[in-house]
Amino acid sequence: MSETHVIHRHLHRLPPRAVGGRGIYLRDAAGRDYIDASGGAAVSCLGHGHPDVLAAMHAQIDRLAYAHTSFFTTEVAEELADQLVRTAPAGMSHAYFVSGGSEAVEAALKMARQYFVEIGQPQRSRFIARRQSYHGNTLGALAVGGNAWRRAQFAPLLIDVEHVAPCYPYREQRGDETPEQYGQRLARELDEAIVRIGADQVIAFVAETVGGATAGVLTPVPGYFKAVREVCDRHGVLLILDEVMCGMGRTGTLHACEQDGVVPDLMTIAKGLGGGYQPIGAVLAQGRIVEAMSAGSGFFQHGHTYLGHPVACAAALAVQRVIERDGLLARVRVAGEHLGGSLRQALGDHPHVGDIRGRGLFWGVELVSERAGKTPFDPERKLHARIKAEAFARGLLVYPMGGTVDGRYGDHVLLAPPFVSTDAQLDTIVGRLQDALQAALAP
Ligand code: PMP
Repeated sequence: MSETHVIHRHLHRLPPRAVGGRGIYLRDAAGRDYIDASGGAAVSCLGHGHPDVLAAMHAQIDRLAYAHTSFFTTEVAEELADQLVRTAPAGMSHAYFVSGGSEAVEAALKMARQYFVEIGQPQRSRFIARRQSYHGNTLGALAVGGNAWRRAQFAPLLIDVEHVAPCYPYREQRGDETPEQYGQRLARELDEAIVRIGADQVIAFVAETVGGATAGVLTPVPGYFKAVREVCDRHGVLLILDEVMCGMGRTGTLHACEQDGVVPDLMTIAKGLGGGYQPIGAVLAQGRIVEAMSAGSGFFQHGHTYLGHPVACAAALAVQRVIERDGLLARVRVAGEHLGGSLRQALGDHPHVGDIRGRGLFWGVELVSERAGKTPFDPERKLHARIKAEAFARGLLVYPMGGTVDGRYGDHVLLAPPFVSTDAQLDTIVGRLQDALQAALAP
C-alpha cells in the first residue's frame, strides 16, 4: 500500500513510518529509536511489546476473535468487567466496553440522559462542562469539550453545553485566595451555572479529574472535587468524570479521583486501559443508573458493532493484571516523584518555564515568554511544534500543545512515560527535553 493513500492528521505531510516497539522505545524505518515519553498520548502504560499482553491477545484470537454483543457475552469481557468493578470506587458496579475515549464519553452522556428519562425526569437535557478541556472529537464529546480551536469549525453542529472555569491554579487562582478558597469559588460558579440554567434541567457536570490534552496537566486543588460533588448532589445533577487520559494508574492510583476523595456517577476510561495493544474504552457506572435502565427500558439505548471486542478485552485484562501483579501503581508514585524532582531541578529556574505540575507519571511543563507576567509566547512562533520537532530529532517523543486554548494560554509539553520506565530513563527524558527546549527557544 502506498503511504500517500493513508490519511493521518495531516493530509500532505506524513510522519516517519514506525516499524517496531520494545519497552519504552519505538523504532522508525530508518532504524532510529525514540523514547516514548508521552506514551503516544498517555496510552502506552506498559511500553511496547509486553510479552504477557501479546500472549493473552494471541490466546484470545485463537479461541474467539469476535462475537456480536447482541447475541453473546464472552468470558473475557465478563472477566474484565469483574476486574474493573473489583478495583473501582465504591458503588461502581458495571462496565460498558467501547473502542476508545470519545466513544466512552458519548456513551456516558447518553447513559446519563437515559437515566433521567427512566426515572421520570425527561426535561433534563443540558450538560455543564469546563473550558480548557478535552473529551474527544466526536460531536457529543466535542460539544462538552472546551477547546475553542478544536470546536471552531464544527460549532454549528454541536449541542448547547454550558462551560464553566476549569481548575487552573497557575493562571486563575487569585493572589488573595488559598488553593482551598479557589476550589470553593469554582464550585460556587458551578452552583450558579446550575441555578441559572434551572437545576431541574441539568443532566450532568462533566470534567476531567486531571486535565490533559488541552492545557498540559491540570491537577485539581485540594477540596475542589469534593465541593463539586456536593453541589451536584444538592441539585440532583450527575457527576461524570472523564479519566480517559488521567485514569488507569497514570496518576499513581488506579483512578485519579481516588486522590480527590470523590466517587463519580459515571466514569470514562480508555487509553491506559488497553495500553495501546488494542483500541478499548469503557464507561464505569453506579449501580442505580444501571438499575434504572434495567427496570425501565430493560436495555441501554446505544450500541456499536465492536462493543466488548474479545481481543480488546483480552489485551486490557492482561494489561490490568500486569499492573496489579508487578505493583506498578506504587512504582508510578515513586517514579512520579523522581520525574517531578528531575524536571524541577532541570527546568525550575528556566526563564521560559512558567509552571511544572503533575501527579504520578503525568507531568506538564507550561512555557511563557516572560515569567513574572506569565505571558504566553506569540502563537505565530509555534513553539510547541518546534519543541516537538527538536525532541523528535533527539530521539524523544513528547506531546506538545499550544495556542489552542481560547487563544490565551500558549504552549505546553505533556509527559506521560510508561510505568515501567527506570529512574535513569526518566533522567534521560528530562535531559533530552532540556536540550530540545534550548534548541526550540533559540532565535
Ligand atoms: N477524553 C479525554 C480526557 C482525552 O484525553 C481523550 C483523548 N486525548 C479523549 C476523551 C478521546 O479519546 P479518543 O482519542 O480515544 O477518542
